[in-house]
Amino acid sequence: MTSPTSEIVNPFQMVQQQIDDICEKLKIKQAYHVKIRECERELTVHFPVKMDDGQVKVFTGYRVVHNDTRGPAKGGIRYHPDVTLDETKALAAWMSMKTAVVNIPYGGAKGAVACNPKTMSRDELERLTRRYASEILLVIGPERDIPAPDVGTNPQVMAWIMDTYSMNKGYSVLGVVTGKPLEIGGSRGRFEATGRGCMINALLTAKHLGMAIKGATVAVQGFGNVGSISAKLLAKEGCRIIAVSDSKGGIYNPKGLDVESVLRYKKETSSVVGFRGSETITNDELLGLKCDILVPSALESAICAPNAASVKARMIVEGANGPTTPEADKILCDNGKFIVPDILANAGGVIVSYFEWVQGLQSFFWSEDEVNHQLQIIMDNAFHEVLEMSQREKVDMRNAAYMLAIKRIADAMEARGIFP
Ligand code: NAD
Repeated sequence: MTSPTSEIVNPFQMVQQQIDDICEKLKIKQAYHVKIRECERELTVHFPVKMDDGQVKVFTGYRVVHNDTRGPAKGGIRYHPDVTLDETKALAAWMSMKTAVVNIPYGGAKGAVACNPKTMSRDELERLTRRYASEILLVIGPERDIPAPDVGTNPQVMAWIMDTYSMNKGYSVLGVVTGKPLEIGGSRGRFEATGRGCMINALLTAKHLGMAIKGATVAVQGFGNVGSISAKLLAKEGCRIIAVSDSKGGIYNPKGLDVESVLRYKKETSSVVGFRGSETITNDELLGLKCDILVPSALESAICAPNAASVKARMIVEGANGPTTPEADKILCDNGKFIVPDILANAGGVIVSYFEWVQGLQSFFWSEDEVNHQLQIIMDNAFHEVLEMSQREKVDMRNAAYMLAIKRIADAMEARGIFP
């Protein structure tokens, strides 16, 4: 997402700055610091795909591993026209931080293909996915690097990757991707996991702030997997969802939107805009609405220096990765906003991906209640560890989450004796 003004933000430089600040604060050994601020592996592939009209188009894709000290690298695959290598590197680094902050035995990775899945047929998407999977086959695998869905990809795309990988191996490999359909080793609860994690974080924050969750007003930017499910689950907890948006614009109803009906409307018309009884608003207007909880769940840099001061929500739960630029973050903190940072707020997805991987490796599958229960335990622990760090070190939740994550990665390097 391009910020609406001249504030140019390179997401990887943004992460490196965050890493530098925390390493200095924690006095992390120079050897570990310089290692953590770079990615371990960056693969760029250019591959041909036959389109439905018979023409061949060459697409560019990436697969990046940021760090795998704590376990196999883990991270989604994004299909979007604007993806870049630097964005993929930033997303990979955030995955390392995320898996460390919630303390699951993974490193961080990310993949992407520059394409517009909305304008491609199912057959074209399948051919693109299978070819991209073949190109990255050598670097992925259940013990080394495990993809999952992200923006523009879904369980079907994961199924094609799993099938392509398995055909090459000669046997079915369930653990090569997560976010798969249930029929081929997907986990119950995975589809809703990221939104559920956002909801759990909002409830824990409300308790901490002494804010009533029943009747709390919520605005959600981005009505895809993360945003729509966060909205649905928060509504179930008694919140009033007053605004939601997608790439075409936003809708607002101060009396509250019926999330299930908005979901049906979006399915039929491919946008939330025009939903009956709602007022059409812009994405920037949504971010500045008077509400209790704001859940940015679209793309990076949505809250930036020019619009940060207009944010009125008391609590911001970052469903998206990197939705707040560093300058905006400072403005929000100065204005007393309580921010649950992305690497904690949206970690529900990777936590249940971890459960899916474990279930696949053991060929033993859990009930949805068991999945949700274990997710609640891990999220609860992580939230309180970050909160405790923030109170002890007198820093905001984002800095506290980074401190916890970077310390865990550095401790793992130390334990492995990476630099004797
Ligand atoms: P998605 O493709 O399902 O949904 C993205 C939504 O954002 C869509 O509704 C789209 O219309 C909207 N959008 C795009 N550009 C927009 C704009 N300029 N303004 C407003 N809305 C816009 O993707 P998703 O899986 O829900 O991912 C959303 C964010 O959450 C991304 O940052 C992703 O990296 C992050 N995330 C996703 C998961 C997951 O499990 N899916 C896990 C962790 C983090």
